[in-house]
Amino acid sequence: MNKEIPYKIYLEENEMPKEWYNVRADMKTKPAPLLNPGTGKPLSVEELSPIFCEELAKQELDDNTAYIAIPEEIREFYRMYRPAPLVRAYCLEKKLGTPAHIYYKFEGNNTSGSHKLNSAIAQAYYAKKQGLKGVTTETGAGQWGTALSMACSYFGLDCQVYMVKVSYEQKPFRREVMRTYGASVTPSPSMNTNVGRKINEEFPGTTGSLGCAISEAVEAATSQEGYRYVLGSVLSQVLLHQSIIGLETKAALDKYGIKADMIIGCAGGGSNLGGLISPFVGEKLRGEADYRIIAVEPASCPSLTRGKFAYDFCDTGKVCPLAKMYTLGSGFIPSANHAGGLRYHGMSSIVSQLYDDGLIEARSVEQTAVFEAAEMFARVEGILPAPESSHAIRVAIDEALKCKETGEEKNIVFGLTGTGYFDLVAYEKYNNKEMSDYIPTDEDLAKSLAALPVIPQ
Ligand SMILES: *Cc1c(COP(=O)(O)O)cnc(C)c1O
Repeated sequence: MNKEIPYKIYLEENEMPKEWYNVRADMKTKPAPLLNPGTGKPLSVEELSPIFCEELAKQELDDNTAYIAIPEEIREFYRMYRPAPLVRAYCLEKKLGTPAHIYYKFEGNNTSGSHKLNSAIAQAYYAKKQGLKGVTTETGAGQWGTALSMACSYFGLDCQVYMVKVSYEQKPFRREVMRTYGASVTPSPSMNTNVGRKINEEFPGTTGSLGCAISEAVEAATSQEGYRYVLGSVLSQVLLHQSIIGLETKAALDKYGIKADMIIGCAGGGSNLGGLISPFVGEKLRGEADYRIIAVEPASCPSLTRGKFAYDFCDTGKVCPLAKMYTLGSGFIPSANHAGGLRYHGMSSIVSQLYDDGLIEARSVEQTAVFEAAEMFARVEGILPAPESSHAIRVAIDEALKCKETGEEKNIVFGLTGTGYFDLVAYEKYNNKEMSDYIPTDEDLAKSLAALPVIPQ
């Protein structure tokens, strides 16, 4: 505690974690297994293998191995943009006049602009190692597709991205980054797949959704020789890869003897949050330390705070395994005026179970308040944050202001998952004061929740 804390706490290259941490190993209640939607029985590695790469299928189902070695080829790639700095937000603290100490882990320092590259490179590596030709995926706003296209070009894999049509049309710049890295990008729903044709027929003129693009990407993977499907969030394997965020954060804090009091992350599918909190939750589970952990979600897509903890479909076409999670129902689509990302209907099974067990808290925030926080952060800390990340900024600021009232010198750590350069249409709306908040009514939610699947016994 005596050393003066620098603006940026950097780890040395050789201090970068050599293993990922699998928090499931320490969980007393394991996340519920993925189920075969046809039989209602837990899926085996063999059943998952036509969809996922084999090693990733194994990681998906591994509830017991606490530490998994990060292959050297992946560590080599990580070295291009990691270790990522843990930044002491001195300027934000001063602006707020808070006695709290605020730290953020910055994951936006790579071309994809977010933490998603941490898992993209791992998934591309295992696909290459298995001798596959390529992978298929979906992307909404485009961060995941961008990250995956970078990872695939690094390992020489074909990358086919189904991009939600509305984003494809409104976000041409991300699309061009993906194409520059060699990916092919198809607006979804497309006419390339059975499920795409069916959705187009049923909902003519639809601008698509993530759930629908997932169905298309899965069909594309299973209908082409040498292809598998990859996903950038929600899955347990993705949280495993993202544990590098939390491991580095903890190592940086430990270097200066700092004990976090509160850890805050935004939650869409739960991957950055799960990765950030894993080592801290591990300590909590083993009774070694205690932390307050807060998941922050948009009030317009409130899966943890207003959803149901139940088995649900992961996609609109209902081709994916069933997962038990906090969900708003697979048919839920956030209101069109929602601009801030984090729009998936469900939440990682791991994060859902931790929340259900009371190990973490959840809070929802409205988007205008999120952009106010983003603006303040950008002006004092310099970085233009992604709208997604700004959900965490909002709650970090709120908590720091509470400390101002109580005079408590708490250590607040939050995840700054990425930059917002491709989200300027949303910033434009905010700057023009055209941004509004829409909170779904109970009736809205009841409608999509009524379509939860009945699990065959
Ligand atoms: C994708 C994304 C998120 C949300 O995804 P999680 O899986 O919940 O982490 C958050 N921030 C940024 C910058 C993203 O690209």
